[in-house]
Amino acid sequence: MASVQIADVRKAYGATQVIHGVDIDIDDGEFVILVGPSGCGKSTLLRMIAGLENISGGEIRIGPRVVNDVPPKERDIAMVFQNYALYPHMTVADNMAFSMKLRKAPKSEIDERVGKAAGILGLDKLLDRYPRQLSGGQRQRVAMGRAIVRDPQVFLFDEPLSNLDAKLRVQMRTEIKELHQRLKTTTVYVTHDQIEAMTMADKIVVMHDGIVEQMGAPLELYDRP
Ligand code: ADP
Ligand code: ADP
Repeated sequence: MASVQIADVRKAYGATQVIHGVDIDIDDGEFVILVGPSGCGKSTLLRMIAGLENISGGEIRIGPRVVNDVPPKERDIAMVFQNYALYPHMTVADNMAFSMKLRKAPKSEIDERVGKAAGILGLDKLLDRYPRQLSGGQRQRVAMGRAIVRDPQVFLFDEPLSNLDAKLRVQMRTEIKELHQRLKTTTVYVTHDQIEAMTMADKIVVMHDGIVEQMGAPLELYDRP
């Protein structure tokens, strides 16, 4: 777990500035949701936290460490994508184990972590299946399992429920929230869905055209008389 501090962060693509001096403080263990219309810069900001985009100005800290120049794999984050990004030729168990195998973790530790993540996510009976043999919701759980197995300081979610049908989306909201209550991992979650933001976030950051328009707890933002 770690805090994330975003201080006066800017992003330009060529001459076009798309993020204009954004400041967001995220506490240890907090679940923060970035919302706003398509094109407002949510995904760019998330990718800068992940290190997948360079920062044009300002500073991002994860814990005490300024990460502006730290490559993604040294940031101790795990990201869950909208399209799941599973390896199609690997089983569920191998998908979840892959990053630990790359790190040459001992097999006993890998088995233990994969087993634990599978238990948390209800994937125990699916470990030998391939992604194409899974439903959308199950694939999304595997993507989360892969993130959990890494035991990162920060989870980053980029519209993880957009590809699911309405019913499953409601169910997965609850599951992700329960997962957070259990692990308490600091989380930054991007969505354009206000209901997702209201039901899941500790703190909502409303973005518009590359700036933070509003920030606060769900009830502060949406339940004003
Ligand atoms: P959101 O996630 O809120 O939909 P994005 O962060 O994807 O918004 O995009 C913010 C702005 O940056 C948009 O105007 C988008 O067109 C622009 N943008 C995103 N990626 C690039 C890129 N690689 N090159 C140029 N412009 C980009
Ligand atoms: P390392 O051990 O070098 O930190 P890993 O072996 O965990 O890296 O993963 C290999 C690469 O894949 C790294 O660049 C890592 O950032 C990336 N990666 C793997 N899984 C994820 C994930 N869920 N989210 C973000 N990046 C990931």
